[in-house]
Amino acid sequence: MDQQIREIIYNLKSCLEYLREMGITAFPASESNTERVFSPTLEEIRLELGDCRRCKLHRTRHTLVFGEGNKKAKLMIIGEGPGYEEDIQGRPFVGKAGQLLTKILQSIHLQREEVYITNIIKCRPPQNRNPELEEIQPCYPFLLKQIQAIRPQIICALGTFAAQTLLKTDAKITTLRGKFYELGEIKVFPTYHPAYLLRNPERKREVWEDMKQISKWMVSQDKTSQLVGESRR
Ligand code: URA
Repeated sequence: MDQQIREIIYNLKSCLEYLREMGITAFPASESNTERVFSPTLEEIRLELGDCRRCKLHRTRHTLVFGEGNKKAKLMIIGEGPGYEEDIQGRPFVGKAGQLLTKILQSIHLQREEVYITNIIKCRPPQNRNPELEEIQPCYPFLLKQIQAIRPQIICALGTFAAQTLLKTDAKITTLRGKFYELGEIKVFPTYHPAYLLRNPERKREVWEDMKQISKWMVSQDKTSQLVGESRR
């Protein structure tokens, strides 16, 4: 009996830790307001971020880049952080890497507008240096809330920082890419970052293969939900 209770407590604790990670820190008093308590809208999350000064990047950024795209996207794209162009325009992936991302998406017959695109950090690091832990940490809860608001079926994590942050690992992207992982009920699929592909075009084939895997999986999901008559959205 003792053992059983210990197991129940252990499972409950894991479940609560997971919910806290997803930004859920309160429970609704009644079922009628479940949706609202559990899931702030993207607009509410943007408002909460405000004129963010939670890390030092606010001193050097021009524009905070929140993210854009389909609020009900089945596929969410998560990159590293804004670069020069993104910082000026306030939109994710609009520079050279962004143009390549658009082509990568088109290779699986998706337009940019059909997916939701954002980054691990919302402000450009000076000289596009790697994001630091103390910059990722305050931004991450907002990313989790975005994920929760959109509820994608699958997240494509672009590059080392996106993959390592979402999967909580320091494994290399070469090891992580091309496989499916789980973040709660959402799949995470890492691949190389388009900026890396611009420097290493010989790696493009692997990304094209990765995208085909994502596409195939999404088609299989659609078929399954049609079969069971599910309409999630
Ligand atoms: N690289 C990223 O990781 N994100 C962007 O938005 C642009 C370039």
